[in-house]
Amino acid sequence: MTEQLLITAGHMLLTPDAPQVDDAAVLIDGPVIVAAGSRATVQAQARPGYRTLSFPDATVLPGLINSHVHLAFDAGPDPVTSLHESDDTALLTAMESRARQLLNSGVTTARDLGDRNGLAIRLRDDIAAGRTIGPRILAAGTPLTSHRGHCWFLGGEAQGPNQIREAVRHQARQGADVIKVMATGGGLTADGPPIWALQFTAEELTAAVEEAHHAGLPVAAHAHGTGGIAAAIAAGVDTIEHCTWMTESGGVDLREDLVARLLAEDIHVCPATHPNWHAFAERIGPERAHEVFSPARRMAERGVRLIAGTDAGVPRSGFDGLASSLEFFEYIGLSRRDVIAAATTEAARALRIDGDTGRLYPGYRADLVVLGANPLDDLKALHDVRLVVMGGHAHSRGENNTRRGRARPLS
Ligand SMILES: [Zn+2]
Repeated sequence: MTEQLLITAGHMLLTPDAPQVDDAAVLIDGPVIVAAGSRATVQAQARPGYRTLSFPDATVLPGLINSHVHLAFDAGPDPVTSLHESDDTALLTAMESRARQLLNSGVTTARDLGDRNGLAIRLRDDIAAGRTIGPRILAAGTPLTSHRGHCWFLGGEAQGPNQIREAVRHQARQGADVIKVMATGGGLTADGPPIWALQFTAEELTAAVEEAHHAGLPVAAHAHGTGGIAAAIAAGVDTIEHCTWMTESGGVDLREDLVARLLAEDIHVCPATHPNWHAFAERIGPERAHEVFSPARRMAERGVRLIAGTDAGVPRSGFDGLASSLEFFEYIGLSRRDVIAAATTEAARALRIDGDTGRLYPGYRADLVVLGANPLDDLKALHDVRLVVMGGHAHSRGENNTRRGRARPLS
């Protein structure tokens, strides 16, 4: 029998929308939660000999989910050059260190939306097997893109429905959890199509979605321009990344009919807000910032399901940036409870893992974060991480890369 772990805290949110529990506790047995709620009730269920960690002034909430990261990128000024300069062995080591940064910042699940050579899938398996420390990873493997399209250098170029179907099947065989499709251009690819421009035909996007769904995998579509958003919705994708409604002329064009479809078809949107969004807003000025952020505000007003992500790895989006990124959701009008839901329950639903994480319920994975203050009072509390528990393993900040076994050699 394993030694149970009882964590007591001044306050606890079992879910983002439940009433806060004061003088609370959660009881953990191996990787799962046995009970959570008022301390007296939970403590009474513990087996003799349990271990206790107590945080009388802290708030415990479900572990955070970052729905958009790129562990293969280094978050420096030129991640593409850095990537080219790293062989797979060096890259995997760097990715392990980035995964630990995610975990230290309270992230217990991260969805990696584009790597090279399936290295994020490899890291996912190493973490799951206890060979290295990090959050649970859901990995897209290599993203699908057009010939010399956005992020073509990651190796996922495919053209025409047949090639696209084969590329999806290849990712599925590699063990991908989700298929990532670059529906439009993007900022990171210097010589690629413009950021607003569609880079696949409707037929190609439909082929990708059909093939992914046939393999039981959801599709995440990178789409900035309104045309790309429309095509992604028409093809039946499951999440839309960025969704900035950009137009060729440099403006924004949010189409209400498409917003209605996002709602009707329960498509989640991950704005992948850069942690330095505030500095960006200051740089472009208040008027331009109001225009650039107005589509996100409008989607929030209309009740579009927004989920948290940071695009960690792109220039200056570090792997500890989720808390800063989440402040954007409050800025565009979400309540603090809805902001926390975007990083827990709602993200879990979008990622199809809401049956086992995102809530502190009996039988759920023991994924939780202990914060020094209460984020319902001030979201800045999300920066003050005291302890992270991922799948029952407690990690205090600064823990080094203790390996519990030998890492597999790279093949
Ligand atoms: Zn991205």
